[in-house]
Amino acid sequence: MQAWDVIVVGGGNAALCAALAAAEAGRRVLVLERAPEEESGGNSRFTAGLFRVAYDGVEDLRALIPDLTPEEIARTDFGTYTADQFLDDMARVTEFRCDPDLTEILVRNSHPTVRWMREKGVRFTAAWGRQAFRIGERFKFWGGLTVEAVGGGPGLVESLARIAAKQGIEHWYGARAVSLIADDEGVHGVVVKRAGRTQELRGRTVVLAAGGFQANTEWRTRYMGPGWELAKVRGTRFNTGDGIRMALDIGASPAGNWSGCHAVAWERNAPEFGDLAVGDQFQKHSYPWGVYINAEGRRFVDEGADFRNYTYAKYGRVILSQPRQFAWQIFDAKVKQQLRDEYRIRQVTRVTANSLEELCAKLEDTDGARALEELRAYNAAVRQDIPFNPNVKDGRCTVGLAIPKSNWANTLDTPPFEAYAVTCGITFSFGGLRIATDANVLNTDGERIRGLYAAGELVGGIFWFNYPGGSGLTNGAVFGRIAGASAARAAAG
Ligand SMILES: Cc1cc2nc3c(=O)[nH]c(=O)nc-3n(C[C@H](O)[C@H](O)[C@H](O)COP(=O)(O)OP(=O)(O)OC[C@H]3O[C@@H](n4cnc5c(N)ncnc54)[C@H](O)[C@@H]3O)c2cc1C
Repeated sequence: MQAWDVIVVGGGNAALCAALAAAEAGRRVLVLERAPEEESGGNSRFTAGLFRVAYDGVEDLRALIPDLTPEEIARTDFGTYTADQFLDDMARVTEFRCDPDLTEILVRNSHPTVRWMREKGVRFTAAWGRQAFRIGERFKFWGGLTVEAVGGGPGLVESLARIAAKQGIEHWYGARAVSLIADDEGVHGVVVKRAGRTQELRGRTVVLAAGGFQANTEWRTRYMGPGWELAKVRGTRFNTGDGIRMALDIGASPAGNWSGCHAVAWERNAPEFGDLAVGDQFQKHSYPWGVYINAEGRRFVDEGADFRNYTYAKYGRVILSQPRQFAWQIFDAKVKQQLRDEYRIRQVTRVTANSLEELCAKLEDTDGARALEELRAYNAAVRQDIPFNPNVKDGRCTVGLAIPKSNWANTLDTPPFEAYAVTCGITFSFGGLRIATDANVLNTDGERIRGLYAAGELVGGIFWFNYPGGSGLTNGAVFGRIAGASAARAAAG
């Protein structure tokens, strides 16, 4: 007798959405979470809870955020973020490698899936604090990222887990899936290690949603290349590729960008893994308003190439490849008000000074003389005739520099000056398992593995090189829901 209809491996957003979808179909569901309860929820819990969702106007947003007040609507320009824009963003930032079928599903289901979560009881709000600029009395959203879960990542995971419990879904913490029980007929359950004991759990179907392999130093270095062991992990220490390995072991096909990942500018002295008390605040995302300088005192990247949402996920890799794997973000007083909240936390490596000379002399591990030369050359190259406007790609650029700055090129001339030391923080790996459009895992012959489904970070083929901010949670929710529903159907058959 099968004890469970659907066993879900993982306890983050993708896993819990899969569990809810399977329970909705009347199946008996077990969630296996490797982490203890106090560290549960995977990377999803570390997030700001931002979801990239296609919407055609404020009415679509009201379906997700019914408590938007008329006053809030009156003082906000939400604009639109159409499915076509979302598709274009995915194609552009992944350099046209994203799987077209999976991407279409991701985009077309973004709004219906978040609405489904809302109907289940997850609450959302507009991301006023992170994704909107105030212009006079009005807020204007930018970058296609408008919706966030109330309470951020912790709020999201807590409410999904609470709803799951109410639906009778069993949730085991400290339960690490070790391998799949499989034969020629497909998958029949998992082997799990819990409280030091290994046991076999029988299930008609299994959904893998156990995250990527970014917290596995050895895999990171093996697949992403030398130097990746030196990156810091932004999120959970439990995503070590178990779900991917278990599936590969029974013949699943790998897919996607195995040498690629999402990685950002992250506090240089942050711990090896994420710290739930700090969450995502070690990140340093305001670089478009300043300049980067490396240990040799050189600029090395176009800080204003695009809106932050479209560059931040690939610049971690660029920082990792700098000498000593770090860089400084430098700002002057003109943009201080515009720096995000994360610049005001206690755990920052910051240098301040009243002149550029003094600042450069204080930059530890850095060629200060060259840095000063570089910043002066940068200042001289700024097109000051073009006004600075953070709400659009303003075209205020530099002229004649080997490394240009294409937008928001402010001169550094107003003291006090500030420099923040950052290194590379890896968010999640892009390579993973190959799935069909119903989230069924495929084997290396392209055939379906009966009874095995996958969703979230451990699926490959969707993100390559880069990523439009807020797509990870949407991806987990959309394919989690599909995987749960497909597994439920298969379990009934
Ligand atoms: C600091 C930070 C901020 C972020 N901000 C955002 C954001 O605002 N918006 C956005 O869209 N994305 C954001 N992301 C990315 C986002 O977190 C991920 O894309 C998404 O949460 C992945 O969801 P998931 O369910 O696939 O994986 P996870 O949420 O990581 O869940 C994986 C789960 O599997 C469990 N697990 C691992 N191995 C096993 C095993 N052997 N047995 C059982 N369980 C196992 C883990 O403990 C965990 O519970 C951020 C990530 C980080 C780290």
